[in-house]
Amino acid sequence: MMKNRSVILIVDDEISNIEIMSAALEDDYEVCFATSGEEALAVAQSVLPDLVLLDVLMPGIDGYEVCRRLKKERLLADIPVIFTTGLNDQEAEVRGLSVGAIDYVTKPIQPVILRARVANHVELKRLRDQLAQMAVTDALTGISNRRHLEQTLERETAKLASTGEWLSVIMVDIDCFKSFNDTFGHPAGDRCLAMVAAALTRAVHLASDLAARYGGEEFVCVLPGRDLEAALEVARDIQVQVNSLNIPHPVSTVSPNVTVSLGVASACCLPDMTASQWMAHADRQLYLSKRAGRNEIFSTVFTAQEDGFATD
Ligand code: GH3
Ligand code: MG
Ligand code: MG
Repeated sequence: MMKNRSVILIVDDEISNIEIMSAALEDDYEVCFATSGEEALAVAQSVLPDLVLLDVLMPGIDGYEVCRRLKKERLLADIPVIFTTGLNDQEAEVRGLSVGAIDYVTKPIQPVILRARVANHVELKRLRDQLAQMAVTDALTGISNRRHLEQTLERETAKLASTGEWLSVIMVDIDCFKSFNDTFGHPAGDRCLAMVAAALTRAVHLASDLAARYGGEEFVCVLPGRDLEAALEVARDIQVQVNSLNIPHPVSTVSPNVTVSLGVASACCLPDMTASQWMAHADRQLYLSKRAGRNEIFSTVFTAQEDGFATD
């Protein structure tokens, strides 16, 4: 389904109600519908609507229960739910709001009011989504920021720890970047950072991989499920991608073009590994790459014992 128009899911066991609401909304929104609670949950899962208009009284799973279940699903919990009901009593209204609905409209539906309420909530949802996106994005490069990196790293480690699977972290630092800024100016430095960020995202392929800006001219890739060998392949590809940008760096001590140094850390996940432990291991390898002359890749496989993790 095309997603440039917001999608409204209308749930009602009376077809005539669906028709009235559809007619009020279909000029401005993509409208889909369900005639039972069960169907509503299935459609919500597959369509991920921007807003749900939900009848309270339905045979089978009623509206309250549908709302409760939507709010329990990570992907569906943020979808605003507006209850539509013929009941015009305070208790029903309070109960609707307490299970997570954002608003309430009573039947018979007045199209003008329905349109106004839906427009308000769709706009609020859009702003919330935008804010949530900004909270995890680095403004300069458009890739993930440090907060998102650390959250992802700890979440992925915890998830993989249950099966003891591999994870790898690559730390990437632009070589001689201070002198690049000094030569070409800060705005050119900013453009270089954005280009290197784009090169990183080309090198991480899997949907579960993450490329993030850690800070300054340092970037980090998180590679769930990848052992050292697989991570080294990505690290070499990062070098290839950065080299092929061909950004001139006449005062670099390493190369006529911009290069990066990399540190790779791989481990079988354990439940207590923290983001800062991962970063410390990757940073240590990055340091060795710098010391070896830059434009290098150093790597390690670490285990709990070396690191003072609680082992017994
Ligand atoms: P090395 O090869 O050892 O990594 O040397 P370096 O010069 O790259 O490292 P150093 O840490 O000495 O300098 C990093 C520079 O990155 C200094 C700072 O001005 C620049 N920098 C950090 N953040 C930004 C940014 O957002 N934009 C620009 N243009 N420059 C930045
Ligand atoms: Mg640097
Ligand atoms: Mg640095």
